Amino acid sequence: MPELPEVETTRQGIAPLVENQTIAKIVIHQAKLRWPIPGSLRQKLPGQSIRSVTRRAKYLLFNTSAGTLLIHLGMSGSLRLVPQTTPRDTHDHFELVLTNRNSLRLRDPRRFGAVLWAGEQPEQHKLLAGLGPEPLEHHFTGDYLYRCSRRRTRAIRDFLLDGHVVAGIGNIYANEALFTAGIRPTRPAGRISRDRYQKLVRAIRSTLRRAIKAGGTSIRDFRQADGRPGYFQHSLKIYGKKGEPCPKCGQKIRAVKLTNRTVFFCTHCQL
Ligand SMILES: [Zn+2]
Repeated sequence: MPELPEVETTRQGIAPLVENQTIAKIVIHQAKLRWPIPGSLRQKLPGQSIRSVTRRAKYLLFNTSAGTLLIHLGMSGSLRLVPQTTPRDTHDHFELVLTNRNSLRLRDPRRFGAVLWAGEQPEQHKLLAGLGPEPLEHHFTGDYLYRCSRRRTRAIRDFLLDGHVVAGIGNIYANEALFTAGIRPTRPAGRISRDRYQKLVRAIRSTLRRAIKAGGTSIRDFRQADGRPGYFQHSLKIYGKKGEPCPKCGQKIRAVKLTNRTVFFCTHCQL
């Protein structure tokens, strides 16, 4: 599943190719994604210039003077820019055709992605309005996490996955950051000290930054095969490594189900 670093890498790859370009037409091959793609996009977007491509959590925002188009990659989505004449893949569901005859295509085999209109105030769109701070922005701090976690009995991994607490952290990077910070994923969020939250925030930032950097150097066509983690997998320390030796102490890595999503940890290094 594309997580924040993959979405940011996609943004960094796509933005210079589509910014200041004009939209010629919108083609919807399959409207049934997680929510139906609004047919009104065919009227709203042609003739508009893409002013910028930004990101909020795992949403990509294509900002035009008429309003903002939101794209979410869901479980298996990817975007790529190809010449308009390139034959369409079966799973290419949505196309934004530019006047320079390139086409931005959303490929999404599992169709959990989304293409939605967010109007002129995208920050007020219902999917974005309640989101917590961005993990890479400076107002996301250890103090902030410490304050919102008091009296919370939920496991820290679930607390980090809650988009109201912090935007866009998925299971893979939550596991990785908790390992780096030495915190067991099952520990109740309300029972972690301020110091450890500061360490955790540093770990979240460095984990995400490293993955974005790795992605930026290794995907060149803004395309990944069917939702597999792919390029960042080689740099994971704990996620998916059940039974393998812990990279810090050598003990066997354990895996347990927690709220239906597996957590990976070392019982010696994570308390
Ligand atoms: Zn260990």
